[in-house]
Amino acid sequence: MVGGEGTRINVHARVARSAVNGPGLRSVVWVQGCSLGCPGCFNPETHGRVPRERLTVRALADWALSVDGVEGLSLSGGEPFQQAGPLADLARRVREGGRSVLAFSGYTIEEIRALPDPGARALLAELDLLIDGRYQAALQAAGPWRGSSNQRVHVLGERYRGLVPEGSGGPREAEVRIEPGGAVSLSGFPDGRLLAALIRER
Ligand code: SF4
Repeated sequence: MVGGEGTRINVHARVARSAVNGPGLRSVVWVQGCSLGCPGCFNPETHGRVPRERLTVRALADWALSVDGVEGLSLSGGEPFQQAGPLADLARRVREGGRSVLAFSGYTIEEIRALPDPGARALLAELDLLIDGRYQAALQAAGPWRGSSNQRVHVLGERYRGLVPEGSGGPREAEVRIEPGGAVSLSGFPDGRLLAALIRER
């Protein structure tokens, strides 16, 4: 255990079910805070280290495991490896509950292994899949789960052995959510034309 179940995770947003943030239907947690500053980032509002929804590891794990019909949890951001210790504890609890865990990170796997925070290696050890690397707006990715073609999909455990999404082509996928109160949010990996159209309509 790296941070303890009472340690808090600063959460930007979460959804119970998404079909575009990894294999199958998944719950998604977007963490708050990222210092990597990729030009053209889809989620600039997640960058600041400001308190948002600060949930304990236990509360977030209980929420993730309470969602019916999903095969796992995806960690996105913001930068998950900048809150790695408590997220490692969260991932361990979610996997003990029989679900897979995936993380999207702006760090490459080589950078993660060299981070001074021991929580980073602890989180890496609890992942089934890692999609890594800075978003590079000029490198349009084909296929699902990646924002730009430099990003790699690492299969880290047995659960997804044989999965071949990287370079597999197919459509990019995005979800537009309309909440009961009328708020609209976008998730996934829209292509440039869709993103530009949605920004125009904001
Ligand atoms: S690492 Fe992710 S959240 Fe951070 S700036 Fe890059 S694309 Fe945005």
